[in-house]
Amino acid sequence: MREPFIYKGTIPRIVFGVGTISMVAEELHYLDRRKALVLSTPFQEKDAQRLAEQLGSACAGLFNGAMMHTPVDVTIEALRVFSDKGADCVISLGGGSTIGLGKAIAYRTDAPQLVIATTYAGSEVTPILGQTENGIKTTVRDASILPETVIYDPELTYDLPVNMTVTSGLNAMAHAVEGLYAQDRNPVSSMMAMEGIAALHEALPAIVGDPRNPAARTDALYGSWLCGVVLGAVGMALHHKICHTLGGSFDLPHSETHAILLPHTVAYTEAAVPHLLEPVAALLGTDRAAPGLYDFALGIGAPTRLQDFGLAAEDLDKATDIAMRNPYWNPRPLEATAIREMLQMAWEGARPA
Ligand code: NAD
Repeated sequence: MREPFIYKGTIPRIVFGVGTISMVAEELHYLDRRKALVLSTPFQEKDAQRLAEQLGSACAGLFNGAMMHTPVDVTIEALRVFSDKGADCVISLGGGSTIGLGKAIAYRTDAPQLVIATTYAGSEVTPILGQTENGIKTTVRDASILPETVIYDPELTYDLPVNMTVTSGLNAMAHAVEGLYAQDRNPVSSMMAMEGIAALHEALPAIVGDPRNPAARTDALYGSWLCGVVLGAVGMALHHKICHTLGGSFDLPHSETHAILLPHTVAYTEAAVPHLLEPVAALLGTDRAAPGLYDFALGIGAPTRLQDFGLAAEDLDKATDIAMRNPYWNPRPLEATAIREMLQMAWEGARPA
C-alpha cells in the first residue's frame, strides 16, 4: 500500500540546454534586475569575464574570490564590493564554492541569485548554506538562500576535468541514493532520485570515454539537477553526516570524499532497508546496491581509498566518535563498532559486500 507523505515543491526557475548562457540578460530582466555582481573562483575568472562582457551595463562588477567552504571573511569582502558597485543581484558562475558565496550574500541582503551551475554538486537548488568561520563550519537553511533562477548550459561543463566530473557526479548520485531512504521521502522525490541516478549512471562512463560528448554532458547535468532537488527536498542521513564530519574535521576534499564513501555508507544502511535500494541494485545489475556502486565507481576511475586524501589510520577512531555525535536520522541506527569497521573499509578501499 502507498505510504502517506507530505510533498512541498521548492524548485527555482530552471533554464536548461546547450547555449542557454546566451539567455542570462533575458533572465535578469525576468527577475527585474539591472546590475548584477558576477561571482566566480579565480580558476573560472576568464569565463566570468566573458559573461561580464556579454552583459555590458547589466554587469555591476566582478568578484572572483570564491573559495571552498564559504569562509565568512570572503563573504564580507564580497558584500563590500556588492554595495560599492550598487549591485541589485548576484550571478554565481561555477560550482558549489561560488554558489555558496552567492547564497551567503543573498542570506545577508535578500538579493536575488541567478546561478549558472558548472559542476554536479547540486547546491544551486537547495536552501542550504554551509559557511566557515574560525575553522568551524556551520549550516543554515533559509528560504532566502534558495536561488531564484538556475541556468544549466552543458557547454560550460565540457572542460570540467574528468576526475572532477567523476567525483562530482558520484556526489550527485549520493544525494539521490540517500533520498531514496530519507524519512521524509515522497513519491516525487523518489522518482526524481531514480531518474537522476539513471541519467548519471549512463552519462558518466560516456564522459570518461569522450569528455566533450554533448549528449553525455547534457544527461549528466540533467541528472545532477534532479539529484540536487532531492538533496534540497528531503533529509540526508549517515552518508552526508560522515562526509560532513570528514570534510569539516579533517579537511578532506568534498566530492572525492563523497565518491569514496558512497558504497560503504550504502552497505551499512542497505542491511536495514534492502527493499528501498532495490531499484538502484537493479539498475546496476547487482543483488545489492553497495557492491554495484563500488564497481561502477571503480569502472569510471573514481578514487576508492580515504588514505589517499590525507586521512591517517589513527584518525579513524576520532572520525567515528565525531560521526556518532549528533547523528542525522538513519534507517539503520548508528553503532560505533560497525561505523568504525565501515570507515576502515573506506580507508583501505575494500569492496563492500
Ligand atoms: P567547487 O565549486 O569548489 O569547484 C572546484 C574547482 O573546479 C573550482 O576551482 C572551480 O572554479 C572549478 N570548476 C567548476 N566548474 C568547472 C568547469 N565546468 N570547468 C572547469 N573548472 C570548473 O566544487 P563543488 O564540488 O561544485 O563544490 C563544493 C562545495 O560546495 C563545498 O564547499 C560543499 O560544501 C558545497 N556544497 C554545498 C551544497 C549545499 O546544498 N549547500 C551542496 C553541494 C556542495
